[in-house]
Amino acid sequence: MAMIIDGKAVAQRIRDGLKAEVAKLQKERGITPGLAAVLVGENPASKVYVNMKAKACEEAGIYSEKIYLPADTPQERLVNLVHELNQNKKIHGILIQLPLPPPLDEHTVLQEVDPDKDVDGFHPVNLGKLLSAKFWNELPPFVPCTPAGCIKLIESTGTEIEGVNAVVVGRSVIVGKPAAMLLLAKQATVTVAHSRTKNLKEICRQADILVVAAGKARLVTAGMIKPGAVVIDVGVNRMSDGKLVGDVDFEAAKEVAGSITPVPGGVGPMTIAMLLSNTVASAKRSAG
Ligand code: NDP
Repeated sequence: MAMIIDGKAVAQRIRDGLKAEVAKLQKERGITPGLAAVLVGENPASKVYVNMKAKACEEAGIYSEKIYLPADTPQERLVNLVHELNQNKKIHGILIQLPLPPPLDEHTVLQEVDPDKDVDGFHPVNLGKLLSAKFWNELPPFVPCTPAGCIKLIESTGTEIEGVNAVVVGRSVIVGKPAAMLLLAKQATVTVAHSRTKNLKEICRQADILVVAAGKARLVTAGMIKPGAVVIDVGVNRMSDGKLVGDVDFEAAKEVAGSITPVPGGVGPMTIAMLLSNTVASAKRSAG
């Protein structure tokens, strides 16, 4: 039976450490890290995420601003707001809650965020630096939060990443691709699978570390997991009965894996912890 990786506990330890760091920054240097979260439109899930992030900031002593804009906000107005936040000295991190309602163009808006305040790590400059990094110490100041959280969870198990086979299922810019880049920077041998991949089962079974971010409920079954593997399930899927399940068939998989994240309570809490961590890092950088 696998060890269940407690993402909530790992995230809480990180958040406790950040709280102490923020208090020290305030006391010794008079700096309060600040995060602005911009939400356009009425997406209920996005509202929940923004509120969770703001509450987590408050708990850590980080200043936060929630900015709500109507769904019909013109792109120019949103871009102007981003420019204002880029100049705002109280703000060290800017988060544009995705997805943006059409016809707003995410790519264009994200490009306007100052790369030095890009705590989500989605600016092309930071993504480019992520691609260029051969070693962990060459990574950009900000890397996308969910994959960064996946690495922390793998490390929390004491698993060696260097030299092992890692498989990432999914190739989105938000999760799959950056997860693959981070595993490469940790010196794993990385395979990326996606919807056109043939023999997904055989490929997954090669994985000492399996990161699944496909958004397909219970796509990965027990028979696709190498005995003893570390399984990180990023997926969040709401079933017709309202239950949340991951992309991995957790009940069966935990009998085969060496360690595995649950859904909920695995990767989800780590995403917020890493966002706070990036915001504190940004405040420190701005102070020199
Ligand atoms: P996307 O839909 O952007 O990407 C999904 C990826 O999975 C695509 O690359 C797709 O392939 C691949 N895929 C889809 N079906 C299959 C299949 N049958 N076999 C193999 N690969 C497949 O999703 P995201 O990356 O944004 O998110 C993935 C999941 O993670 C979602 O459930 C999302 O809710 C969750 N999530 C959780 C977060 C958290 O904090 N816990 C944060 C972000 C996301 P192709 O490219 O060929 O289409």
